Amino acid sequence: MQNEKNKKILLFCLILLSILPTFILAGTPKLTWLYISTFSGFIGTVLILWQYILGTRSVSGLYFNELPWVTRLHVLFGVWGSLLIFAHPVAATILYAKSWTYSFALNFSGGLETSVSYGRIALFFILTIWLTSVLLRRFLSYRLWKYIHYLAYISLPFVFIHAPSIGTSFINHAVFAYWYSLAAVFGVFTVVRLRMFVSLGRTKYTVIKLTKLNGHVVLLELSPQNKKLRIKPGQYVYLRRSITSESHPFSVAHYSKKSGNIFVAFKVFGRYTGELTRVKQGATMYIDGPYGTFTQVANLNSGETIVFIAGGIGITPFLMHLFNPKLKNKQLFYANRQRENANFITSLRRELGQNLHEFYSEEKSSKAGSRADRITASKIKENVPDWQSAQYIICGPSQMMKILRDDLKNQGVKASNIHIEEFSF
Ligand SMILES: Cc1cc2nc3c(=O)[nH]c(=O)nc-3n(C[C@H](O)[C@H](O)[C@H](O)COP(=O)(O)OP(=O)(O)OC[C@H]3O[C@@H](n4cnc5c(N)ncnc54)[C@H](O)[C@@H]3O)c2cc1C
Repeated sequence: MQNEKNKKILLFCLILLSILPTFILAGTPKLTWLYISTFSGFIGTVLILWQYILGTRSVSGLYFNELPWVTRLHVLFGVWGSLLIFAHPVAATILYAKSWTYSFALNFSGGLETSVSYGRIALFFILTIWLTSVLLRRFLSYRLWKYIHYLAYISLPFVFIHAPSIGTSFINHAVFAYWYSLAAVFGVFTVVRLRMFVSLGRTKYTVIKLTKLNGHVVLLELSPQNKKLRIKPGQYVYLRRSITSESHPFSVAHYSKKSGNIFVAFKVFGRYTGELTRVKQGATMYIDGPYGTFTQVANLNSGETIVFIAGGIGITPFLMHLFNPKLKNKQLFYANRQRENANFITSLRRELGQNLHEFYSEEKSSKAGSRADRITASKIKENVPDWQSAQYIICGPSQMMKILRDDLKNQGVKASNIHIEEFSF
């Protein structure tokens, strides 16, 4: 698969470029703490730079459309890169027998101290990002966490100016060249990110219609102004209301190949989706993408049974597959609290007939079963003859996905046959 090949190439480049400093720093004087300080600072910076590059969706999205995988790498590099960066001042403090507050006390009294202070500023920013992402993430709102993440834009320039003026290894030309190439790469990716930030590089669409569906869900129809994006079933796009607005991901519920029109069904959760309900007909929206390979196992030629399991608004990435008559052997298990919240249900009943299984957890009497009727692996087994070899594609609330995945695995479904999409990264 192309994506698997791309992953291997990327990993190879990442490893090669990350260990390069080990060779060019070979001439560093043989003092243990100096070694630790230099290597951790260098390799930590390389990893943080990779984290920054992988976080540039407009670039990583060109290469990979499986963004959650890229996001996992981004997180991994961020966590370990930061830890290595933290080891750098610790080793330097021990090496130069300074006090433990030395790494934090800003001091611009002379050339050397000013350079050290650039490092202190970078350390403060990286520490803040690390603490809020690793330890405090669940106490912070998504938005606050994200804004704090933007400190990455300013932390790296401080790292780049901090090192050359004090680093003993910088007498080596190869180290100098390597360091400034890293700084140049950072510069290029910053321009690319800022370009996306002001919506250059996004495709313009016009709002055609907003239709209220059930249970705080709205269907938004968008039409391309010039370029049409080509969307595959199960993919998602990032939507932006204006040049300065935030950018949020939404699955494409329907796409017309002929007109290029895109339909997005979104549930009102918070500020952004609330604002989306107020966009005016004729307004311009900015889209980037499409991304995602989540439902790619729903392959028209494989002949395998595909079991789609949706909870509420989690139905959206499945709709194009479900309404595709060429995709045979599909079953849908669709869970909602109440019947009146089950969006698209009439057309789904018409399209899928016996292959649609409805579940309502808060209905007093439910055609599909008992009062608190939830999807379980045993209910799937009762309805899907080849349940053991089927592919399972699940999208819904995190808790529901986790319970179902464990339940299916306990019943003997292979983990590689279960595919999950989170509606948050
Ligand atoms: C791949 C993918 C596809 C999605 N498809 C749909 C869809 O078809 N229909 C639908 O209703 N929702 C979908 N979502 C979820 C949708 O993006 C969020 O509900 C929306 O961004 C919430 O923003 P808010 O400001 O209204 O709410 P908030 O209260 O600010 O956010 C609610 C939660 O949404 C998540 N979120 C917020 N902003 C972002 C962001 N920029 N990127 C990623 N996650 C974010 C966070 O987990 C947050 O806690 C999808 C999400 C992802 C990742």
